[in-house]
Amino acid sequence: AVQPAASQHKTTCCYCGVGCGVNAQVSHSTVIAVSGDRNHPANLGRLCVKGTALHQTSQSPDRLLHPMVNGVRSTWDAALEHTANGFRRIIDEHGPNAVAFYLSGQLLTEDYYVANKLMKGFIGTANVDTNSRLCMAAATVAHKKAFGYDTVPGCYEDLETTDLLVLVGSNTAYAHPVVFQRIVKAKAERPKMKVVVIDPRRTATCDIADLHLALRPGADAFLFNGLLSYLADHDGLDQDFINSSCEGLDAALATARAQVPSVAQAATICDVPAADLERFYQLFCATPKAVTVFSQGINQSSSGVDKGSSIINCHLASGKIGKPGATPFSITGQPNAMGGREVGGLANQLAAHMGFDNPAHIDKVARFWHAPNMAQHEGLKAVDMFEAIHRGEIKAVWIMATNPVVSMPDANFVREALERCELVVVNECIANTDTAKLANVLLPATTWSEKHGTVTNSERCISLQKGLVPAPGEALNDWDILCRFARKLGFEQGFDYQHPVDIFREHSALSAFENNGERDFDISAFATISKADYNQLAPVQWPVNAAAPNGTKRMFSDGRFFTPSKRARLISVTARFPKKPPNNGQMIMNTGRIRDQWHTMSRTGNAPHLMSHMDEPGVDIHPADAKQLGLSEGELAVLENLGARYLGRIKLNDGQRRGEVFVPIHWNDRFASSSRADALVNAITDPICGQPEFKHSPVKVSAY
Ligand code: SF4
Repeated sequence: AVQPAASQHKTTCCYCGVGCGVNAQVSHSTVIAVSGDRNHPANLGRLCVKGTALHQTSQSPDRLLHPMVNGVRSTWDAALEHTANGFRRIIDEHGPNAVAFYLSGQLLTEDYYVANKLMKGFIGTANVDTNSRLCMAAATVAHKKAFGYDTVPGCYEDLETTDLLVLVGSNTAYAHPVVFQRIVKAKAERPKMKVVVIDPRRTATCDIADLHLALRPGADAFLFNGLLSYLADHDGLDQDFINSSCEGLDAALATARAQVPSVAQAATICDVPAADLERFYQLFCATPKAVTVFSQGINQSSSGVDKGSSIINCHLASGKIGKPGATPFSITGQPNAMGGREVGGLANQLAAHMGFDNPAHIDKVARFWHAPNMAQHEGLKAVDMFEAIHRGEIKAVWIMATNPVVSMPDANFVREALERCELVVVNECIANTDTAKLANVLLPATTWSEKHGTVTNSERCISLQKGLVPAPGEALNDWDILCRFARKLGFEQGFDYQHPVDIFREHSALSAFENNGERDFDISAFATISKADYNQLAPVQWPVNAAAPNGTKRMFSDGRFFTPSKRARLISVTARFPKKPPNNGQMIMNTGRIRDQWHTMSRTGNAPHLMSHMDEPGVDIHPADAKQLGLSEGELAVLENLGARYLGRIKLNDGQRRGEVFVPIHWNDRFASSSRADALVNAITDPICGQPEFKHSPVKVSAY
């Protein structure tokens, strides 16, 4: 028989926040090969190791194929009827705040939109949070405080064209590999470009650093307060820009000066050589084109918002924003952490960047949705939500495309909370994740190459992930599952979408609804997009509207911001160290990603070659600490905190600071049952944004 020729399709990678464009080759209803899309602005043809394995990681033998209720195969109708009856009974008896959704940056924007609309507008509670809370919540608030709304001002091109690239709390080489490849190439072509890495660890990212400041963990805001003082004392302020476009400098500067009056003092607090710190301050002060990239090392902190504000302050005060090669740049962890924020994926947000802190926004969204039960107050953030489940106040939770039993802080507590919960519903593509095992109702969801819709990457680029192959078994798209559930609850109107384009149009229209120039970062150009155009959507950076029909590479070029005064706000930051210092004999555990695995390995754990970089949980430790503890390279060590244990193989690493160990976040019960690192992380959060302090957990370390 003649074999049909393979067809080629453009789509988007489903892993990290770089958001690479992918050419997928499909034959016999299967993706058989992938390559980087040369025309996609995020990657210009590159893919990292995870990206090259996309087709392997989505074809797992562990796929969930059928709805299950209490461990028994069910039908969609019966499973959703069971779920709707459970939600209805609990809401009737205890009110809408007794139910919750826990979402994921792996969802498409259209999925996120429907989940938010259903919960916040129709069920009547804002108990909708997402694993983006663990990732970007601090940056979201820091942006809003400074700019009036949550937005990333710059673009990836700025990271290449800048003269000074500062990477803070970001192991870009592992967590955002294609962005790192772009930086490596740019630096090779323009050796005058300087790279400064600020990170307690000497990571792979430091391979290209002209200067590495291995600061004391958690000292970032002290360091940037010191920079703000230095700028003021060394003619580093852009007085014209401050006069025309900023407010709050005097207070921010006074606080910074009071805390960090000199470079010498900053160096002592941050525990870095004073000469190195001064070199960084001089470089930043003297270089008009500077970009500061910040990520989880800043965000995953009990003072993450302040750390972000301290960075943005320095860019505003020196006018390094809104210009080519000059911007603060929060780089997101997940493929759609930004898209989720756009449609209100966090418990304190509404759709279209609006929030519960503004009654006019609540009213506006309610009228747009024709919402019968509009939530009036923000809901519980992730850590608070699982605590409320543990206390029995939330009695039904629906978890979509995420694995909190592995990824939440104090993960054993979260497991216990779900064991106690009356009704746990899980949408998953994989049948046997640690969280799926606790589900009363387990619903099979589509995954990459099957689902169809948009994601937004770290540089605000909206890009289409395409449905290219049929869903296996009875798997459905998340938005479709939610719409069927909404109709079971009796919400016939508002959830009759036939295709993701219907949802995308509605989201686009809401972004500009009664805007009156308040939020001129909408995507109203897509409010009437045809299905054919949507299915061929080319990557585009929002805003996309009448003023910017082809999208917007860079924001704030005109010096106008989204605050009522149109001025950016410098924030007075009182820097603080992590809340829980180690006791005698304890070390500080830092957690993070390795290069070739994604989150809790639900999909990447199935691709053998992704194990070749690191095939078991490790513990990076300074050789002198290891010697003191009687540990040697290759031996097993046990880390303990909160009654939990993490087992890992010792790797001697003189790039670790003394007193600190590093462990990866990925391992779980499927691959190494004694190595769930987040079970050892205290559930301590930033009081403003609710983001947990994943980077600083006191642990006991000993030989196994
Ligand atoms: Fe996918 Fe991120 Fe790798 Fe790009 S860098 S291929 S988006 S995992």
